[in-house]
Amino acid sequence: MKIQTLKVGYLQTNSYIVTCDTQKEAAVIDPGGDYEKIRAYLERNGKTAEAVLLTHGHFDHILAAKKLQDDGAKVYINTLDKDFLANPKSISFGFRTQPFSADVLFNDGDIITVGTLQFKVLHTPGHTKGSSCFIIGDTIFTGDTMFYQDYGRTDFPGGSQADMENSLRKLLNLHGDYNILPGHMRESTLEHERKYNPIVL
Ligand SMILES: [Zn+2]
Repeated sequence: MKIQTLKVGYLQTNSYIVTCDTQKEAAVIDPGGDYEKIRAYLERNGKTAEAVLLTHGHFDHILAAKKLQDDGAKVYINTLDKDFLANPKSISFGFRTQPFSADVLFNDGDIITVGTLQFKVLHTPGHTKGSSCFIIGDTIFTGDTMFYQDYGRTDFPGGSQADMENSLRKLLNLHGDYNILPGHMRESTLEHERKYNPIVL
């Protein structure tokens, strides 16, 4: 398995492209803009976007999702965040994308299969109602839930500080160590966050 980080869009969101040497199918996590950059990476590596996995529905994580869907990718999002895609009013800062809908709605504990890649869904509300993390191997894609020594904002519609605290504890209570690949800024590890995340200080 290979994970490539691409910084995309106005807010330089971390979009992750997960591939495997033995297959063409790639999973694209949070394509928050810069469709051409994402497509160029896939083409250069002989991959096709089979699945777009969205950690949540905010504009800076979804802006290139519709174009990848038009290219044939299936879009996955938590059931509770699906309305972000259908409602352009939820797209802020003047950014617009055509309304679209997800192909697959997931819930806590679901397994998403992309070729031989398998992602386990962990529902982690707090930033939005449907915010979710994806676990594969020793890596967790945490979206805007857990950041390096920080966590996502809870003051947007659908946000909840109490839910965020529960979600962060759910992550910290997983057994063992994981690489934490967040939606913004630098990566971390679960062991590091057990010591330095503000939720435990
Ligand atoms: Zn967000």
